[in-house]
Amino acid sequence: MKLANCNGRAALVLGDEIADVAELSNGRFGPDPMAVYDDWSAFVEFAPGVRTGTGPLVEAQLRCPVPTPRQVFAIGINYRSHAEESGMAVPDVPATFTKFPASLAGPYDDVEIVGETVDWEVELVAVIGARADRVAEADGWARVAGLTVGQDISDRHLQFAAGGQFSLGKSRRGYGPMGPWVVTVDEVPNPGDLALGCSVDGEKVQDARTSDLIFSVPRLVADLSAVVPLLPGDVIFTGTPAGVGIARKPPRFLRRGNVLESWIEGIGTIVNRCA
Ligand code: ZN
Repeated sequence: MKLANCNGRAALVLGDEIADVAELSNGRFGPDPMAVYDDWSAFVEFAPGVRTGTGPLVEAQLRCPVPTPRQVFAIGINYRSHAEESGMAVPDVPATFTKFPASLAGPYDDVEIVGETVDWEVELVAVIGARADRVAEADGWARVAGLTVGQDISDRHLQFAAGGQFSLGKSRRGYGPMGPWVVTVDEVPNPGDLALGCSVDGEKVQDARTSDLIFSVPRLVADLSAVVPLLPGDVIFTGTPAGVGIARKPPRFLRRGNVLESWIEGIGTIVNRCA
């Protein structure tokens, strides 16, 4: 199933229609898009029975599919190709930081460019469905509700200021666009090998596959949940492949007016204009 946030309400996407979750469940689930994750196992029983829409799918009504997670994890240096372009060794453990939740944004929201060093990072984003506390890697996928497309937009100047502050440098308002919806894992044929990429004004700048990930989604669930419980609706930005602007010679960054398009095979495409 595809689960979207339509004007602040949880909605299933059925082709070119949406089905309002609260309306069709008589208030059992939703309307808050986060509420379905708190009752995820019951929701996945309910949702496949929904076959009729309640309105048309309108792109302009889609908001961040997971708008207020309690925890946002993000992983640096998690593709071999990106480790190489960054001149970094392949790490032994996931290099983890956060994007503060208020930086998350919708799939078609504008990105406000602040300064001269704002960079792109397309990423596969995993959304937690069932609380995960000290979970084995083999059980990792079972704790994931679904996958979505994310951009870990980064202010490189702020990121490397004061000796390094990744979390703040990746948390300017609107610097975490996600969407266009969450696709449940069962609908993604081979999540360990998906094409992903992004383009700036139509020019492809990142083009990779998730098979190049150093730490897979289930491995991240295992490693992170060994430290702290992962809660329903938490999100994990799993890292970006090669092709970021700062690694280019000369470096290239986003400018006002640029259109940033980001996609993942089997999930969808988000489009963000730099304003
Ligand atoms: Zn990133």
